Amino acid sequence: MDRIEHSVIDSLLQALQSRGYVTIGPTARNGAIVCDEIHSASDLPIGITDEQSPATYRLKSGNNHLSFGYVLSPVSWKRFLVPPVLTLFKAVKTSDGFRITNETSAPDTPPQPRKLAFIGVRPCDLQALTLLDKVFLGDRYTDPYYKAQREQLFLIVVNCTKAGGTCFCGSMGTGPTAKAGYDIALTEMDRKEGAFFLIDSGSEKGAEVMRELDRRKAAPEEILAADEASVRTRASMGRTLETDHLKEILADNPEHPRWDVVAGRCLTCANCTMVCPTCFCSTVEDVTDLTGKNVERVRKWDSCFTMDFSYIHGGSVRATPKSRYRQWVTHKLSSWVDQYGDFGCVGCGRCITWCPVGIDITEEACAIRENHQTVLPHP
Ligand code: SF4
Ligand code: SF4
Repeated sequence: MDRIEHSVIDSLLQALQSRGYVTIGPTARNGAIVCDEIHSASDLPIGITDEQSPATYRLKSGNNHLSFGYVLSPVSWKRFLVPPVLTLFKAVKTSDGFRITNETSAPDTPPQPRKLAFIGVRPCDLQALTLLDKVFLGDRYTDPYYKAQREQLFLIVVNCTKAGGTCFCGSMGTGPTAKAGYDIALTEMDRKEGAFFLIDSGSEKGAEVMRELDRRKAAPEEILAADEASVRTRASMGRTLETDHLKEILADNPEHPRWDVVAGRCLTCANCTMVCPTCFCSTVEDVTDLTGKNVERVRKWDSCFTMDFSYIHGGSVRATPKSRYRQWVTHKLSSWVDQYGDFGCVGCGRCITWCPVGIDITEEACAIRENHQTVLPHP
């Protein structure tokens, strides 16, 4: 473990840019932290923090020493791997049918993967990428766009030293400190005299970039302080999710009365699925222009909260808010385990912050657990 000073972040960005990476990191825009292209350390949200609670998000002035003093952006990294709208192909009408025009030399090709360096991935979001890998790479079918983009990523994690108002990564085992899966891990340490970073590499390409930076070995007390900050952050999380037998409890209680209670509040607005770093559902649309000669096939984010999502010749399978909310929660916390061997929730808390009526997935799962009708252990 090494130590770098705050000013070295510019060298880190330059080292990545000189290798051809577009550097994507947090920046404050329109009252929120968004992840977008950053050119230098001055683009980071220096001295800005976020305040989050159910249905509430706001930025405010924080500690001027810190570049990563906020907790979590509403924008998760999935948008760079699974774009909200992705043109799969374009075609033009010909005398005997259609001709696909998205050969790489054609002017209107679908977006090509780029070398992207993600700066400031939180540990929960790193685990979300691991979950998306299982969906898009590790299942029976591989998504070629995801695969090509994933292979061009450089991941810089920033460990959390402060919990947000809706975080519960501690109970999901996904944070507040990342254990593996990154190229470089940073921990921003606040000191009266100014902040500094602890830095560690998690891959050979991370180590190679690190060798270019002005750094020194971290002192044992600095490493200890980071460990203590991680323990403190975990202990300060205001909510937990009890995961023991949760898969079975949710699967065995589709008619629990709590589903009706939450359905009475849920607006089926789909906000929770849009901000969730692991929700991956999409729909495919074919669009022609007014001449009828040019056509595009586009893939768009979709949500299990819409009626159309479960429409099958003549009606929607999940016609009620109850069935749609139940589908979402039981997928995240029950059937996802059957499909991918892990929960589909990383405890980032975004769905709680961005639900306009403040529905809290931890509270709902806890309520189902109470008075559940499940014989445990499940066969
Ligand atoms: S749980 Fe909240 S965010 Fe999700 S669909 Fe219902 S109202 Fe919208
Ligand atoms: S379900 Fe909610 S808390 Fe879990 S990963 Fe998705 S947005 Fe985060």
